Amino acid sequence: MISKASCAMATLPCSRVRSGFCILPGMRQLSLSKGLVYGFTRLLSMPFKTLRGASRTLKVAQFCSVSNMSSSLQIELVPCLKDNYAYILHDEDTGTVGVVDPSEATPVIDALRRKNWNLTYILNTHHHHDHTGGNQELKARYGAKVIGSGVDRDRIPGIDIALNDGDKWMFAAHEVQVMDTPGHTRGHISFHFPGSGAIFTGDTLFSLSCGKLFEGTPLQMHSSLKKIMSLPDDTNIYCGHEYTLSNSKFALSIEPNNEALQSYAAHIAHLRSKSLPTVSRKPFYLFF
Ligand SMILES: [Zn+2]
Repeated sequence: MISKASCAMATLPCSRVRSGFCILPGMRQLSLSKGLVYGFTRLLSMPFKTLRGASRTLKVAQFCSVSNMSSSLQIELVPCLKDNYAYILHDEDTGTVGVVDPSEATPVIDALRRKNWNLTYILNTHHHHDHTGGNQELKARYGAKVIGSGVDRDRIPGIDIALNDGDKWMFAAHEVQVMDTPGHTRGHISFHFPGSGAIFTGDTLFSLSCGKLFEGTPLQMHSSLKKIMSLPDDTNIYCGHEYTLSNSKFALSIEPNNEALQSYAAHIAHLRSKSLPTVSRKPFYLFF
């Protein structure tokens, strides 16, 4: 279903960025509804309807990379490997820095060096190498603590702090709510920052698709996606891969006459033609 490669994908462009929140006029219904639905259409007829209904309620589902100045949490996107995204988190008040899913160390080190930042934490959504490949080098270089799922305690390189569903952990003054989101892997978790309206979904939810079911069942993934969709409307979704373009092509193969989808697909194609991420429309936040 969904995406192709190992994990998957992406986001919607933000047409307006204000106080760390992105609004997607004309794209709202497309974002989550299509994002969740396309990968499941053939798998789950019931969830299809459920997700479509939920998406109308959720409305937003944004995939953006923004600096959430309202909460002093900056979120910066770092492209890694072929199509992975790591995210650097920076608490302006304390100087605490984290990175979510460092596929490799070098791009993260380069980004940190440009900012003259140290690294305090490494957060892993799941154990796959393209999300943890930089753990050991970054940990050795900065002495950063590795945070991951207790379920995958034995599979996450260098793990120091194991968290489980419902746990609350603090990134500086920012509460982080740990959500089990299995399906892609059995130990997959998502990190929700409710005070900043942000969630890091790894390979659970992408723009226009969800992750492959390597270890979980369709029902597990459906349950995980419903958890994410139950979050407040102004939640920004930060996913682990840039798969939006290929996802849009698949989506159009299912609904070729969907005008909103056509418009979005065209916008995605334009961004990708310029090698810009579809998870952000503010390239100056990127560490290329
Ligand atoms: Zn993965």
